[in-house]
Amino acid sequence: MSVDASSSAEWTDIRDGVRALCQRFPGEYWRKLDRERAYPTDFVRALTDAGYLGCLIPEEYGGSGLGIGAAAAILEEVHKNGGNAAACHAQMYTMGTILRHGNAAQKKAYLPDIATGRRRLQAFGVTEPTAGTDTTSIRTTAVRQGDRYVVNGQKVWTSRAEHSDLMLLLARTSPRDTVAKKTEGLSVLIVDMKDALGRGLTIRPIRTMINHATTEIFFDNLEVPAANLVGEEGKGFRYILDGMNAERILIAAECLGDARWFIAKATAYAKERVVFGRPIGQNQGIQFPIARAYAATEAAELMVKRAISLFDAGRPCGAEANLAKLTAADASWQAADMCLQTHGGFGFAEEYDIERKFRETRLYQIAPISTNLILAYIAEHVLGLPRSY
Ligand SMILES: Cc1cc2nc3c(=O)[nH]c(=O)nc-3n(C[C@H](O)[C@H](O)[C@H](O)COP(=O)(O)OP(=O)(O)OC[C@H]3O[C@@H](n4cnc5c(N)ncnc54)[C@H](O)[C@@H]3O)c2cc1C
Repeated sequence: MSVDASSSAEWTDIRDGVRALCQRFPGEYWRKLDRERAYPTDFVRALTDAGYLGCLIPEEYGGSGLGIGAAAAILEEVHKNGGNAAACHAQMYTMGTILRHGNAAQKKAYLPDIATGRRRLQAFGVTEPTAGTDTTSIRTTAVRQGDRYVVNGQKVWTSRAEHSDLMLLLARTSPRDTVAKKTEGLSVLIVDMKDALGRGLTIRPIRTMINHATTEIFFDNLEVPAANLVGEEGKGFRYILDGMNAERILIAAECLGDARWFIAKATAYAKERVVFGRPIGQNQGIQFPIARAYAATEAAELMVKRAISLFDAGRPCGAEANLAKLTAADASWQAADMCLQTHGGFGFAEEYDIERKFRETRLYQIAPISTNLILAYIAEHVLGLPRSY
């Protein structure tokens, strides 16, 4: 039996297509980019041209109108084949904010362009240095002046900002002490990045342990047309929350892909590496961690599938999406550690790609949502325990 037998059963055409595309971008491609901290422009263009990044956009706006299961299959397959979709995954879920809450003019103006790749919606400005996970305490403000908003403040970890035409920005439009609930008074604006650069928007790259094109951005009296407000002013926090389940599910799919890659790599090596006159995979000390990682991945996949089926049926799936992200991120990290251990010293050599994937998959314990905050969600919303923060 193949180590990925169960996960490949659905969306086989899409999986085959993505796998074939990924074969054009082998380990050397990702290694070189990683070394230079460069953006995978060709890979992102290929995914866009093949229509994969527009899979969730309805057909009337030029996308393929597929469900979240198809999007999850695409991202999982990229990661399972040694790639990394973090350079472009964001528009799959940020686009949903415009689709669900944008007005007709905004949908018409942006969605077809995003579907064709003419414009990229890859930047998502929520996190701020002083607010951290406590999103409602963000300090970036957008003050209405006539037909514009004037934005001041700072974001951090705004990934892909240099490679995106558009950004979804969460800013405070009413001071926190003037609203009944702290979740009110936040709004979502569409920022035209190219237009804003040098006109009040400054982007500074942050070099990190992975190649992620992440940045900090500064707003100094940036003017954004009032027509770029998504939905109602003051309701932006809810719009962002609405997109969280899709984000959790899609990131979980990437984790599954990583886990499958680590398991396949470790299994192959354990069969061929001979020490003390026998394959290392003959030792239970090597076999069992691989088997455990496999079991954790299979279990996480069931959780991801459950979240997908609820999401696609339009049913509430907050608990399931969070559980999917938690179990899949744990499975990928477990598999990463196992794969490195299985390879001994060679796991540290760049050319095996393990150390790169090991660093990359570690991110999912922290972003887009940290493990503790998922546990806090489960404790409070599923188990009914008192809110801890
Ligand atoms: C590479 C990278 C890319 C990113 N891309 C984006 C992006 O594109 N857009 C964007 O908006 N953000 C982005 N982020 C930000 C990411 O979403 C946050 O880093 C993440 O949500 C955690 O927030 P924080 O770093 O502020 O940690 P903090 O909120 O400062 O938390 C620090 C630690 O304390 C724990 N903690 C905090 N409060 C509690 C509590 N009440 N109970 C228990 N534990 C708690 C957290 O779990 C965490 O482990 C990115 C981050 C990284 C590293």
